[in-house]
Amino acid sequence: MAAKGTPVTKPTLLILPGDGIGPEVMIEVRKVIDWFATQGLAFEVSEDLVGGIAYDTHGTPLTDATMAKAQAVDAVLLGAVGGPKYDTLDFAVKPERGLLRLRKEMDLYANLRPAQCFDALADFSSLKTDVVAGLDIMIIRELTSGVYFGEPRGIHTEGNERVGVNTQRYTESEIARVARSAFELARRRSNKVCSMEKANVMESGVLWRDVVTEIHAAEYPDVALSHMYADAGAMQLTRWPKQFDVIVTDNLFGDLLSDLAAMLTGSLGMLPSASLGAPMANGRPKALYEPVHGSAPDIAGQGKANPIACILSFAMALRYSFDQGAAADRLEAAVQTVLAAGLRTADLIGEEGRAPVSTSDMGDAIVAALAEE
Ligand code: NAD
Repeated sequence: MAAKGTPVTKPTLLILPGDGIGPEVMIEVRKVIDWFATQGLAFEVSEDLVGGIAYDTHGTPLTDATMAKAQAVDAVLLGAVGGPKYDTLDFAVKPERGLLRLRKEMDLYANLRPAQCFDALADFSSLKTDVVAGLDIMIIRELTSGVYFGEPRGIHTEGNERVGVNTQRYTESEIARVARSAFELARRRSNKVCSMEKANVMESGVLWRDVVTEIHAAEYPDVALSHMYADAGAMQLTRWPKQFDVIVTDNLFGDLLSDLAAMLTGSLGMLPSASLGAPMANGRPKALYEPVHGSAPDIAGQGKANPIACILSFAMALRYSFDQGAAADRLEAAVQTVLAAGLRTADLIGEEGRAPVSTSDMGDAIVAALAEE
């Protein structure tokens, strides 16, 4: 407790709703944030522009001022960026560059993507119910290096044809820090890490396997470690995903494997993510939370978007940035309650043909369930 008269510093949160359905789902998150404030858990929330809307307003997908704000706060929560309107823009000012700049300059090297199957949605997955019911795995994707950033890159001409080049490059320290994130997280879960690469055909994969093995032996011998080639990992993820707890992998394989794992649970509208970096002076990691889905231009502005992925991203912020594990549990339980009661946005409706609820109805129901928990 703060001494009488001492102002209590609230944790700071920067909200960047972005484009398409981003602002729509963020309105629902604000309802949740407001509800927690009534319970004494208040944040100092600021809001700013990112993506296409920032380009429309400032001519850049992320201004230096917004970047500086993101560096200064305890956590950033982002909606989504992009849309067909911006598809023909120059690569340097495309909406996605705003997001990439945030990730790069905040040095968010560990991307956490949980694939958790809510009981009420188990039969919604394209896999058999017993394969996914109770599923709770976490994929940690290295986010700031690898083939998406390696040099040389580009398209040049050799003789009479064009050649496209990208470079897969990892340093030992880049591998070591994301491996540590995976082992630390596993210790708070079921204590198992599976590392995935292609050491059979890629030197960067050989180094990846060596470094993960070294860090494990030296610092985390209590955690069970296994290795798998990423292609075999993809097969195992669809065959029996419950064999995994934490999976750690590089940027490219993580991009693919986390989308695959996403579909185990049914809908993009359900999937949160966190991107974490090194600890700041206050001990909290640099952090950006965002739903996995994009701006969904096909449904934007129609009240159809599922806000749960963004709400669960805020739950991850509660857990990993604000040390509010109990509040995160409560929020996840409220989502569970609402789904168990049969509420579904349009993306969660399969063959059964029940009537969908709107984005805002879903947000209201989650807040009502929070109050009843
Ligand atoms: P998307 O995730 O936006 O949409 C894929 C499909 O899933 C669509 O049919 C959409 O209606 C549906 N969907 C997505 N989120 C939903 C939600 N919350 N509720 C209900 N349905 C949902 O991917 P896309 O169509 O490939 O990309 C659209 C735009 O978003 C593009 O400009 C792309 O570059 C951008 N994008 C941004 C991010 C991001 O901001 N992190 C991620 C992926 C794509």
